[in-house]
Amino acid sequence: MGRVYNFSAGPAVLPESVLREAAEEMLDYRGCGMSVMEMSHRSSAFKAIIEEAEADLRDLMGIPDNYEVLFLQGGGSTQFAMVPLNLMRGGFAEYVVSGSWSKKAYQEAKRFGDARILGDSSDGNFSYVPNVAELRVNPNADYVYICENETIYGTKYHALPETGDVPLVSDVSSCFLSEPIDVAKYGLIYGGAQKNVGPAGVTIAIVRDDLIPTDDLHSVPTMLQYKTHVDGGSMYNTPPCYAIYVCGKVFKWIKAQGGLEGMRDINVAKAQLLYNALDESNVFHGTARKEDRSLMNVPFVTGNAELDAKFIAEADAAGLKNVKGHRSVGGMRASIYNAMPIEGVQALVDFMRDFELRNP
Ligand code: PMP
Repeated sequence: MGRVYNFSAGPAVLPESVLREAAEEMLDYRGCGMSVMEMSHRSSAFKAIIEEAEADLRDLMGIPDNYEVLFLQGGGSTQFAMVPLNLMRGGFAEYVVSGSWSKKAYQEAKRFGDARILGDSSDGNFSYVPNVAELRVNPNADYVYICENETIYGTKYHALPETGDVPLVSDVSSCFLSEPIDVAKYGLIYGGAQKNVGPAGVTIAIVRDDLIPTDDLHSVPTMLQYKTHVDGGSMYNTPPCYAIYVCGKVFKWIKAQGGLEGMRDINVAKAQLLYNALDESNVFHGTARKEDRSLMNVPFVTGNAELDAKFIAEADAAGLKNVKGHRSVGGMRASIYNAMPIEGVQALVDFMRDFELRNP
């Protein structure tokens, strides 16, 4: 049974070497006589795993010392609530709605306080990112919120909004560790692991110290307070141990690719290959505005729903899996995260060219 090329938006492809290593250590993790899945999270072996994972992530991203790294549960969707519950206390927050995920985050924040829309690209069916230079940030806002890479629409911020002293909160779920970023420009960064970083079940939050409320927020459940997880070293309760362990291996794998600079170069080469094919094609068209194209998620259509369905079915039969677009938009979407080898993108491009010849 061979491995396929998996273009799923998440959970998604992981580096094969990471999977092999995890398989080798499955029954007996480094002489412990048990799997990491079976191990107490309070054991010295697991403590070493989580500490090494955090150290490697800090190293990879250059995370300054005044930022906490938290390994949380509940997915990105729980962060939609945790962000306002912890950062919006009595004031208001400004949201840029550039796709389904920032819209959901905005709607969730409205449940807890005064969330306002700072920018919105729904008029273009979220095919673009609002012009950051035109955003008028209110200096009294508790934070400005963006989703840096909209997974469904395939758009990415290639410049960040200037928010002055207002903390910038960014959902990086679908572009996590895909290229270098300057952590100091953000107040809070978070992402679900299941796209670029590891298996589902762990969400990583990187939070600037001074934004974490120091008092217990009595109206907020204990588990939804960042302070709880800072104080507990991400072990207030049982963390998603196995997922953290795999993330740790992925961090080392990214280091071996040349760190985030190396990863970006590889990702740019893969994305160019696919976007060039789309731009040259008479059948397939990319749906995101060119300047805002994501390196990670590439949505495209033929303009004919039947032809889309035919392409998806034939691609699937050819071992190019999960190229179906999100159920809310249709068409196709190829997610080409860090672990997708360039050979996979080349195979997709070759298949598209062949399909085009057969369906002029
Ligand atoms: N943010 C983004 C950008 C996403 O792509 C997703 C899920 N695909 C989420 C948030 C929600 O994440 P989760 O399913 O982990 O709650």
